[in-house]
Amino acid sequence: MNAKRLKLSPEQWVTLLHKYGVPESSLTGKSGSCPICGGNDRFTYDNKRGRGDWVCRKCNNGDPKAGDGFELICKVAGMSFRELMLELEGGSLAEARQCRAQQAAAPAPGRKVDPEWARKRLESMWDRATLIGSDGLVPRYLRARVPGLTAPPSQALRQAMLDYRHEKKVIGQWPGIIARFTLPDGRLGTLHRTFLERSTVAKATIVTNDGEILPAKLNDVTLHKLNGGAVRLMDPVDGEIGVAEGLETAYAAHMQFGVPTWYCLNRILLADFVVPDGLGIRVVHIFADFDAIDPRTGKSPGVDAALKLAKRLRAEGYTAVIHRPKKRETDFADEWLVCRGMKRAASKLPVRNLQREAAHV
Ligand SMILES: [Zn+2]
Repeated sequence: MNAKRLKLSPEQWVTLLHKYGVPESSLTGKSGSCPICGGNDRFTYDNKRGRGDWVCRKCNNGDPKAGDGFELICKVAGMSFRELMLELEGGSLAEARQCRAQQAAAPAPGRKVDPEWARKRLESMWDRATLIGSDGLVPRYLRARVPGLTAPPSQALRQAMLDYRHEKKVIGQWPGIIARFTLPDGRLGTLHRTFLERSTVAKATIVTNDGEILPAKLNDVTLHKLNGGAVRLMDPVDGEIGVAEGLETAYAAHMQFGVPTWYCLNRILLADFVVPDGLGIRVVHIFADFDAIDPRTGKSPGVDAALKLAKRLRAEGYTAVIHRPKKRETDFADEWLVCRGMKRAASKLPVRNLQREAAHV
């Protein structure tokens, strides 16, 4: 597909950007929060050249940056440009076009990734990666994000040194988490990669020579359409599982609720989650991200995805239970920090009282 020649109407751009997780609140043309780097008013979507164009005053390491819609999608959805083009060829562009379409063009046929090549690439990456154990870089990273985490090492996660490719070049190597994304029928969908810092316990900050900040979380090649699948972090217990959007929120929800939890990578895939047959699952706990309300829809996107999933699962005969964090604009990883902080404060309280009593004696 030649991205340069692709023509989309303003409505189609908004539909496509929204589909890949850019909040509608960022696409109003007024200044607002940047879907890439946050803030309150630094980002404007102007579609100036009809390419889904945007500007952010901070996106270039604190300096201004402008980009087009494809770049925005790649950053927000954690995809490479190539992955995005393959997906667009694979039908998501057609969906965007159908929606409020002004031109009824089908996507042009283009070069597809060879499935056999993709399968071999993913399998060899998985085979070469190491199991994570209980005290390597990955568990240390997870415990830094979800303090007190006690879940045993997951069979769905491995660790490896990973090449970071950007614009067809390897720009460096970082250690990383490889997560196995499994489709409802058990096939491998993709391997999701989280790049970590080499010396500190944190997500890697990856910056190009031009100062462009690249996402630290990326899917590798997509072997099959991902809808329906999840990273199966833990085995179901008593016919119950939980599902969340991200790795950290899944572990945090697991710690808070004691439910074995899987994750779907983003809210679009969360809404599309399908319960696999043969595992005896009857109850699904949905751990929603409590995103800010999107003024255009009047809904919190994360909660909306959870409601959609619950509605479908109930229609299919499952018990679906929605959980959302108490505080708006937080997820369960945030809530777990608060919860744990309160528990620790509570556990310290008697000690302080004893000390005070001792002082009185
Ligand atoms: Zn920004």
